[in-house]
Parts: sequence; C-alpha cells; structure tokens
Amino acid sequence: MAFLELSHIQKSFGPVQVVKDFNMAIEKGEFVSFLGPSGCGKTTVLRMIAGFETVSAGTITIGGQDMTDLKPNQRNIGMVFQAYALFPNMTVGQNVAFGLKVAGKPKAEIDQTVQEMLDLIHLGHLADRFPYQMSGGQQQRVALARALAIRPRVLLLDEPLSALDAKIRVSLREEIRVIQRKLGITTVFVTHDQEEALSISDRVVVMNEGRADQIGSPFEVYNFPKTRFVANFVGTLNILAGKVVDAATGCIDIEGQQVFAARETHKLANGAACTVALRPEAIRLTPAAEGRNQLSGTIEDVQFLGSVLRVRVRLGSVSIFFDMFNNPAETPPAPGEAAIVSFGRDEVLILDEEAKAA
Ligand code: ATP
Repeated sequence: MAFLELSHIQKSFGPVQVVKDFNMAIEKGEFVSFLGPSGCGKTTVLRMIAGFETVSAGTITIGGQDMTDLKPNQRNIGMVFQAYALFPNMTVGQNVAFGLKVAGKPKAEIDQTVQEMLDLIHLGHLADRFPYQMSGGQQQRVALARALAIRPRVLLLDEPLSALDAKIRVSLREEIRVIQRKLGITTVFVTHDQEEALSISDRVVVMNEGRADQIGSPFEVYNFPKTRFVANFVGTLNILAGKVVDAATGCIDIEGQQVFAARETHKLANGAACTVALRPEAIRLTPAAEGRNQLSGTIEDVQFLGSVLRVRVRLGSVSIFFDMFNNPAETPPAPGEAAIVSFGRDEVLILDEEAKAA
C-alpha cells in the first residue's frame, strides 16, 4: 500500500461534480504535482487531503490509516497557500512556533524547533521581524517553515509560488525541492505552470475536468503525452489531424504527405482518422529531401526566443512549429522560403483522444 492513497475520490458542489473518480497512490517521500488549468479541481483535491473539504465519495488514507472523516487538525498535515497567510501581528519566530504552541509542546522544544526551521530556510537571523518587513519570497519561506515545524506526515503546497516574481519563483522552487529531499517529506504541489511541475516533481498528475488524464514522471508526461489535452498542456505545439494509410507499417497521411510512426499504430484501422503530436524540438530543417519522415512546406514566421528560434512552416491547410538552436554564425530561415522538415519516427506520437489514466 502506498503512503498516501486517494481512492475513487469525488466531490460535488451542489449539482456540479468538480472531482470525478480521482485515484492516486503516492509513495513515502515522493514529490507529486497536480498540474492543470484553472478550475480543473486541483485545489479541491488538495483541500480534501487536508480535510478542509469533505469528500462526496471515496477514501483517503495516510500510512494505512483512514483519514477520510478526520478533522484537519487530526491529520497531521502541513499546508502552504498562495497568499502567504502569515499572522501579521506575530513575528517570524512566533509564526513558526504557532502550531507547536497549539499542540502544547514545551517551550524548550518549541524554541529549538523554531531555530531549526528558520535555519532550514536560511532566515535564522530574521526571527524577530514581522511579515510586513519581509519580501514575498521571504514570507513564503516562513510559511513553509511554519508548515514544517509541526513535523507533518504530508506537506501540501497550493500554488505557493504564484504570487512571486519570475526569478524568485525559480530559486524558491529549487529551495523547496532541496528541503523536501532533505526531510524526505511526502509532498503534493498544486500548480498550473507546466515548467514548474516538470522541473521539481518525481511525478506529475495532469488534471482535466476533475480527472487525472495522465500520471507519470516529468520525462514520460513531456515526451509521451497520451491525450490531446496533456500534449497541449505540456507545450507539444504541433497537434495535427492525420489519416491512417497503413496501420501495420505505421504510415500516416498528414496534409497529403506521408510520415511513419513507431508507436501505437496497431490500435488503428486503415483509413481511420487519428491525431498526431510532434514536439517542436524534435523537428529539424533539412537542406534537401533525404528520405522518410519529412514534410515540405513554406516558412511563414520566425520568432527569436533567445536560445532558440521558433519557426512556423505552412503545410497545406495547417502550420507546424519547429525549434532551431540560435547560432549567430548561421543565417536564419526567412518567411516565404521553401522548407523541408524531418523527424524520427519515434517522435511521431499518436494521441489517444479518449485515454484517461487508471
Ligand atoms: P485554480 O487554479 O483556479 O484554483 P483549481 O484547478 O484549483 O483552479 P478548484 O479550485 O479545485 O480548481 O475548483 C474546481 C471547481 O470547483 C471550479 O469550477 C470552482 O469554481 C468550483 N468550486 C471550488 N470550491 C467551491 C465551493 N466551495 N463551492 C462551489 N464551487 C466550488
């Protein structure tokens, strides 16, 4: 049995079902992100784990113990919110000590834990400051220290970085991951930012309308999205309508041109419509026709993104994007030029429009 198990969780608010049969088994010490657009139910699932929302159906267990009907303060869970939610009239030290005081811990133990937690977040020297005297990033670190001080069995982070500016967001997410690994604490992190989820998680749950569309490592979810929704969400960019020419060989027609897929074509019937995903970095410009898995079209646009150039190529009625490394020694392609792009057959992903993670 996994450490944190969510089994057949459902949640309805009045007539609206916002979480639909959500299942997830999280191992001890694992860092899992719930990734999805606004309104897909990620916060609701997190709040049900914390006990701030009741479940309409299903069970939640931690360490084999049924938590489903326990009150939040009986679950031993630490939570950090998007808005830092520190007590404004308490110092940093008092904020971190709060949960320990409520739990009736002796003063010496509280003092020692507060010091340890503040050292962990590198703010030991600011224990006497008030929240208003600190930056957003510092306040969020204090919120993290406060959540960890009670030595929770599970740490829940609800978009903890969303209110911070881009640079602090990146440095704090790295810090959270370092602390999480150091303490080995089982963590669930909610975000709508795919880069954030992919960069810090052991596993990512991509949520779509109250369900998990796909659960996998960042590598799996990014490289092998199963559905159109997941592909879109992780930035696959090229999602094209195809038609199966020959399922046995993996031959697919895209805009009157033939390409070959390595995977999943056995599920398809000859002549069937299918959806093909191609990641922009898997495609390259080729100087001349060189064999299979090529598409020819016309360059429409070139965007300079810094380390890469994102090029849009028109193929009949659709456009596709591909990325080229920025090389100042090379002249970039120009709109209007004819272009041939190529890719490996392993890069041609056939999406399962109906797929849902078990
Ligand atoms: P966001 O990133 O915007 O917070 P989310 O994926 O976390 O989105 P939830 O906050 O879980 O989504 O909300 C899921 C759905 O449930 C939304 O449509 C929301 O309006 C609805 N909802 C959430 N809480 C309540 C509530 N207390 N009463 C009624 N509807 C609610």
